[in-house]
Amino acid sequence: MLIVFIGPPGAGKGTQSARLADHLAVRHLSTGEILRHAVEENNIVGQEAAPYLERGDLVPDDLVVGIVAERLAQRDCQAGALMDGFPRTPGQAAAFDKHLAKTGRALDAVIELRVAREELLRRLMTRKRADDSAETISHRLEIYIRETEPILSYYKTRGVLHTIDGIGTLDQVFSRILAAVNSRAR
Ligand code: AMP
Repeated sequence: MLIVFIGPPGAGKGTQSARLADHLAVRHLSTGEILRHAVEENNIVGQEAAPYLERGDLVPDDLVVGIVAERLAQRDCQAGALMDGFPRTPGQAAAFDKHLAKTGRALDAVIELRVAREELLRRLMTRKRADDSAETISHRLEIYIRETEPILSYYKTRGVLHTIDGIGTLDQVFSRILAAVNSRAR
């Protein structure tokens, strides 16, 4: 099973997608986590990614597409994976489609977590993460609207998009997500 999770920073996609991956017993793949880890390790990927993460910019498509393709080919992702934060641009979505076609896999569902901007800003200001300074927060929100939102209509046309209201308790939001995943046409 392959599921993509999309949502602006602060929508709760990290928490909810990890929980859904646990529930479905599939690997949780967060490109943000992989990149932050690479930066900490200061390896080649980390060195290339670091300035983008610091600014709150997206890393180049090629870099992140390569990371995902490599991870999905590993044994722990054969039963499925939950993609948290990928794809994030139309270019990544197209490259992901190509990769899936080449490897004979299909995307089962795309979950969009939707939260109003004021609520996102409120949540993000109370979160403590290295790339969460006041400037990068609003910058990352702008980037989400400009780069990532356009891929939602792409997935909507293909009938795989489920838009979930991200306001509520963790349990309330999670049950909405589960209902969407269980309702999907097979
Ligand atoms: P996240 O943890 O998903 O909020 O991602 C944190 C940061 O990692 C983002 O602000 C980007 O700099 C980078 N990043 C994560 N996923 C991607 C992606 N799919 N494409 C480009 N950059 C990404």
